[in-house]
Amino acid sequence: MFNALLVKKNDEGKTSAAVESISIDQLPEGNVTVAVEYSTVNYKDGLCIGPGGGLVRNYPHVPGIDFSGTVEESSDERYSAGDKVLLTGWRVGEAHWGGYAQKARVNGDWLVPLPEGLSTKQAMAVGTAGLTAALAVMALEEHGFPTDDAVLVTGAAGGVGSVATAMLAKLGHKVAAVTGRPETADYLTSLGASQIVAREEINETSKRPLEKELWSGCVDAVGGAMLARLLGQMNYGASVAAVGLAGGADLPATVIPFLLRGVNLLGIDSVMQPYENRLRAWQRVSTDLPMDKLESMIHMATLSDLPDLGKAILKGQVKGRVVVDINA
Ligand code: NDP
Repeated sequence: MFNALLVKKNDEGKTSAAVESISIDQLPEGNVTVAVEYSTVNYKDGLCIGPGGGLVRNYPHVPGIDFSGTVEESSDERYSAGDKVLLTGWRVGEAHWGGYAQKARVNGDWLVPLPEGLSTKQAMAVGTAGLTAALAVMALEEHGFPTDDAVLVTGAAGGVGSVATAMLAKLGHKVAAVTGRPETADYLTSLGASQIVAREEINETSKRPLEKELWSGCVDAVGGAMLARLLGQMNYGASVAAVGLAGGADLPATVIPFLLRGVNLLGIDSVMQPYENRLRAWQRVSTDLPMDKLESMIHMATLSDLPDLGKAILKGQVKGRVVVDINA
């Protein structure tokens, strides 16, 4: 028997989450069993710990959209007992039981060998949010930065935003970090941000489709009205890597920035990334993310902290990355 955070739904449709002891036979089908060491708290986990937000397919459910650990048993020839591995995406923690348990059974195709130079804890300090930030930075690089103006990062104090800020700064870009929490300014500066932009400065600009050109690129974790506003502030030919919707799913924008400024809107999806892309992005993380900065981003948590943390992340109250020590 081992511990897991089990989310259950009662006859009235109300969900509840608690740490329970479960057995290996309860795990879903898969060809690799992993002794989980670390997982993290992402925005989607907040949804899945709570009412599910349409993401959870079956109850009871074990959330946790990413994890790292050691292979315990494998019939996949790529993995043997003792191998260190990590997992992000593939709807694990949503449609398939995830990382908030001491053991997970998954399809070997969804795993990645732990990149050299990263511990299982560091890999999860990065986690899905950090992998997504790396994919966003790589997408911006592919399309180029038209000037050396700052690159904007929205939702900067959150998970994706923190990693994107640190990575872009390490790569030599000026980074303008947009935050709704002025008290995180010192933290964001310590990650490498050269400019702190208050959330209202973007949200409360005029609703004109084009503003002064200010930014050479953007990693946007917020979406909604903020994404609509910042499109009109991009340099000619600049790209926006749209990662998330922490500020809403509607996009009240016009086509003008695309037509008159050649702005590129790049959608970033970390969930269904093929193995090669995931491996490439993890390699970039291990070379281009300063590990001392990563250390300053993390807060440690245990399985029993998760119900409260799930609520906090949905309210935008989590700073940086929360790493869950599954065996603590
Ligand atoms: P976090 O909650 O850690 O960060 C989101 C940040 O957005 C908050 O910290 C806050 O930053 C800001 N924010 C929150 N609410 C609002 C609001 N109403 N208006 C404006 N800003 C707001 O989440 P993550 O960084 O883990 O994820 C960010 C987004 O990216 C989520 O929507 C998530 O679902 C998505 N995502 C997408 C992935 C993909 O594959 N495309 C993978 C991972 C995440 P601040 O206080 O600094 O303003």
